[in-house]
Amino acid sequence: MKRILITGGGGFLGSALCEKLLKAGNEVICVDNFFTGSKRNIYPLLDDPRFELIRHDVTFPLYIECDEIYNLACPASPIHYQRDPVQTVKTCVHGAINMLGLAKRLRAKILQASTSEVYGDPAVHPQVESYWGNVNPIGIRSCYDEGKRCAETLFSCYNMQCGLPVKIVRIFNTYGPNMHPHDGRVVSNFILQALQNKDITLYGDGSQTRSFCYRDDLLEGLVRMMATSDDVTGPVNLGMPQEFTIRELAELTIKLTNSNSRIIYCDLPSDDPKQRKPDISLARKLLDWEPVTPLEAGLQKTIEYFDGLLKSDPDFCLS
Ligand code: NAD
Ligand code: UDP
Ligand code: UDP
Repeated sequence: MKRILITGGGGFLGSALCEKLLKAGNEVICVDNFFTGSKRNIYPLLDDPRFELIRHDVTFPLYIECDEIYNLACPASPIHYQRDPVQTVKTCVHGAINMLGLAKRLRAKILQASTSEVYGDPAVHPQVESYWGNVNPIGIRSCYDEGKRCAETLFSCYNMQCGLPVKIVRIFNTYGPNMHPHDGRVVSNFILQALQNKDITLYGDGSQTRSFCYRDDLLEGLVRMMATSDDVTGPVNLGMPQEFTIRELAELTIKLTNSNSRIIYCDLPSDDPKQRKPDISLARKLLDWEPVTPLEAGLQKTIEYFDGLLKSDPDFCLS
């Protein structure tokens, strides 16, 4: 049994990771300031004597004891990370420094949840880890993209300078049950709109592409990465190697929900990447990992989740 710290443990991915690691027999410490996370996500875990919740902002130092750290704290949806861009940079950078300092004191393994956003609007397709990216340093997405790039730099420096066992994974768009209804990312937006027969808000002409990975597949990738030997530091891409246009996603969501929604075209936000698809050869080789849930099956499960939530707690969904 290990004692594992998960920062951002109240969020969409973090809460499911807390549950997975508890089920595997570990002690889990969840640290979150609930900027985008929700206590609802971890209510079911609070009675478990091996689970502990600490309300804390990772931009401030944290002195606790643990064996492993998953650093997931950071708003991931553009509407949320753009709400307070300075805080987003601080969370990425100061948060990384504090968690790396903690890991250094404890000689603990530490994994960074980096992102496909480090590739920006990519000129290389599909994206391979050796590609350095095409990122606007001063645009509306920069607080997140550059914050995450700097965090990768910090992780590499602590590895090179202090020999700290670090793991960097670059996560591509991931979706699934327990996404917050106000998350604002495309999958939850489209499903909630479709289930209520509201207009589907397609940004731009919908020809931009993304690759959508189901939550449980992604979590398995995180755990396998943490289990690698100390010489494996990454970065390693984790995501679905199939690519869809956002218009295809809208049409599929309408079909799977039997919805009467119509698609409306809205302005494309600036710096919105035109294409995104991971090359996961490295994850296949190092982790023997690839996603096993096809988009349609994962969407069905996510639709069932939001359908249930709309019926059981419409105020939470609509307020
Ligand atoms: P999320 O917004 O649901 O979760 C992030 C969690 O971090 C929330 O619970 C939030 O309250 C917490 N948090 C934010 N700032 C904090 C701070 N300063 N101190 C403590 N807690 C803080 O997002 P998610 O989808 O679960 O993403 C988790 C991580 O994975 C993020 O680091 C994100 O960048 C990364 N990621 C996610 C995706 C994806 O598609 N889901 C893709 C790439 C990278
Ligand atoms: N830190 C922390 N918890 C610890 C150890 C360190 O939060 O258990 C923070 C501390 O605030 C410090 C940062 O991590 O600013 C970086 O620590 P490091 O030891 O690398 O650098 P230094 O203390 O020399 O600045
Ligand atoms: N998008 C959309 N409608 C929405 C939300 C997002 O068309 O209601 C588009 C967005 O412009 C982007 C893609 O869907 O091209 C994925 O957006 P998301 O915010 O989920 O993630 P990211 O842009 O960070 O990949």
